[in-house]
Amino acid sequence: MNVLLVYAHPEPKSLNGSLKDFTVKRLQDAGHTVQVSDLYAMKWKAVLDADDSLAKEPGERFYPSRDSKHAFENGLQSKDIELEQEKLMWADAVILQFPLWWFTMPAILKGWVERVYAYGFAYGVGEHSDARWGERYGEGRLAGKRAMLVVTTGGWESHYSPRGINGPMDDVLFPIQHGILYYPGFDVLPPFVIYRTSRIDETNYPAVQDALGQRLDNLWTTAPIPFRAQNGGAYTIPELTLRADIAPDQVGFGAHVEPQRDGDAAGSSYSISAGRRASVAHYTSPSRTDRS
Ligand SMILES: Cc1cc2nc3c(=O)[nH]c(=O)nc-3n(C[C@H](O)[C@H](O)[C@H](O)COP(=O)(O)OP(=O)(O)OC[C@H]3O[C@@H](n4cnc5c(N)ncnc54)[C@H](O)[C@@H]3O)c2cc1C
Repeated sequence: MNVLLVYAHPEPKSLNGSLKDFTVKRLQDAGHTVQVSDLYAMKWKAVLDADDSLAKEPGERFYPSRDSKHAFENGLQSKDIELEQEKLMWADAVILQFPLWWFTMPAILKGWVERVYAYGFAYGVGEHSDARWGERYGEGRLAGKRAMLVVTTGGWESHYSPRGINGPMDDVLFPIQHGILYYPGFDVLPPFVIYRTSRIDETNYPAVQDALGQRLDNLWTTAPIPFRAQNGGAYTIPELTLRADIAPDQVGFGAHVEPQRDGDAAGSSYSISAGRRASVAHYTSPSRTDRS
């Protein structure tokens, strides 16, 4: 299988750097072909602007979406964007690896998404009408491929627990997993999250690698997060709101995930908490509210 690892950390000797090298080796040893987009090493241009289209004249008004569509459809995208799109089309699975910075991905990776996810490539795909709202959330150009996040955090696992002060990790990652990965069609696997990274040292690092290694070994068999498909009947169109009879007592991010089935979407993480490994089932505590 072909795996694309999109990696965002500025320091090769970091924890993320070690885990990136480990991931590449583990996948290659298992017979997979791996490409790495090491964004800092590539000096990836993070900002989306008029230079992304080869057709732009200096001083001409810039339309981020319209110009992206024109460039994508007419072979006028800047070469770095085109190469990343080719890697995405080549990949059977995509891993995004990054440290959590200010509750999301580092800016360089966000910029990769903004520029590579062109109009016509990742959005604006399929028929858009009052009866159909394009191919997205379960359909799209990247359908049939798998994606997984590998994320490190300074915060403790408890800080990201269902009642933790930072908000549940499922909610923190929802805009990435649902909005960036599920949107263009990926099957999104539960994330691999490493908490409280300042406590990692030579003693407990091997256990972190082992836990990640197991997730990589199971990349093709792990059940994806059961997000609800836009065109699967659960949503009214064009309102794109959940039907009244679907999960009527749920609101918020958790409402867009089908109820847990046995063996579904068991996420995992490595938590430095009294030196013990913790396995965490994600998407078991969706946000709920009483209707009364
Ligand atoms: C701008 C910014 C914003 C942030 N925002 C958030 C936030 O919103 N939420 C949050 O929770 N955290 C946040 N953090 C913390 C951040 O998520 C962590 O610092 C990061 O995840 C740590 O990853 P790293 O690769 O940089 O680790 P490193 O600092 O490189 O390493 C962590 C530890 O692992 C050890 N280590 C590294 N490699 C090895 C190895 N091969 N063998 C043994 N030990 C090793 C190191 O010695 C170190 O003790 C933020 C940090 C920054 C800079």
